[in-house]
Amino acid sequence: MRTGSMRVAEVSMPAIRHNVGRIRALTGGVVIAVVKANGYGHSARFAAQAALDGGATMVGVTDLEEALALREAGICGPILCWIHGTNVDFVPAVTEQIEIGVSTLTQLEALAAATIVAGKPAVAQLKIDTGLSRNGASRADWDALFARAAELHRAGTVRVRGIFSHLANAGDEADRAQAAEFDDAIATLRAHGVDPELIHLAASAATITSPHLHYTAVRVGIVIYGLSPVSDKTSAQLGLVPAMTLRSEVIMLRGVPAGTGVSYGFNHVCETATTLALVPMGYADGMPRALNGSGAWVTIAGEPRPIVGRIGMDQFIVDVGPQAGRIKLGDPVVLFGDPERGYPAVEIWAGLMHTINYEIIAGIGSRVLRIAADAEPGTDAEPSTDAGPAAQGAAA
Ligand SMILES: *Cc1c(COP(=O)(O)O)cnc(C)c1O
Repeated sequence: MRTGSMRVAEVSMPAIRHNVGRIRALTGGVVIAVVKANGYGHSARFAAQAALDGGATMVGVTDLEEALALREAGICGPILCWIHGTNVDFVPAVTEQIEIGVSTLTQLEALAAATIVAGKPAVAQLKIDTGLSRNGASRADWDALFARAAELHRAGTVRVRGIFSHLANAGDEADRAQAAEFDDAIATLRAHGVDPELIHLAASAATITSPHLHYTAVRVGIVIYGLSPVSDKTSAQLGLVPAMTLRSEVIMLRGVPAGTGVSYGFNHVCETATTLALVPMGYADGMPRALNGSGAWVTIAGEPRPIVGRIGMDQFIVDVGPQAGRIKLGDPVVLFGDPERGYPAVEIWAGLMHTINYEIIAGIGSRVLRIAADAEPGTDAEPSTDAGPAAQGAAA
């Protein structure tokens, strides 16, 4: 049961729809919206719903459990998943019409076997390794894999709907080499008599930078959440709207004299008399402890204020200055959101942490309540909430 809203990730459904529309306009082709890892922290259900409403053809997740959770949450659109454990059971995938990214002959045979148990055909997309050296079939395995895939396709057992690969983002030349390898794989598959409908290589970065790599579809994650995949362009410069506003509230205010130590280790000592505001979010909620002393800030009642002292598991402290009369208990604290609205950009934290925006948003903890905000004109529906997989399980 959720009783409060002191830790909230507000997810703008119109922003996600807008971002998908933007990518559709940019590519003119099919958009596969990646909602793995709980929709990059936004709630996979909200992200999938908004992406499909915004014109995505399909959603993608990493594994079958994520895919089945989306089906349980009521997402009925096409879903693709592409990383499988050695003991994966594909029967529910076939039953629930989840498309399977197939990297190996073993996986293909397991999928074919599952169609017999499930009593209906499966849909596969062949995953090719073109140089990233991760998931996907390497060149040496193409012939055997494609021959068997073609046989199953012709038999109507496993329909081969697509072929895809993933880039290393190691520069334009490396991208072109991977694309050439991918072209060989596509030609080889066609030579085996299968003409795939969905051909996709580009994730967000190549979608933005390399129109020649769009093929018939793009498979994008970070951009649908309105964040930039490249360090030299902001969301606004790309016409994207950040979908998540991570917020909390002021739950205590304390006037302190100069010389007051703050939080564990007293590694911050107030130089002057000031007012400290307590905010109930911490590293368990995805706020990196290493932000301690880095100069990170939040907005309180719309104004920028510095985080001071160590970030705890459940709380952190903000110096709101000596004349804090204007700040009251319950005032909203925004940790990050759309900089166009005056909020700190998530990229500030990412920069301070020497990481990428992806890692920050994917790390938002399970105690943070996801709320879908649908503020488009003419809609006054109650915001829906997603308390996460644990709570869904408890309710089931
Ligand atoms: C995560 C992932 C994506 C999406 O990447 P973005 O950079 O967020 O667009 C696409 N394809 C695969 C295989 C992935 O694992």
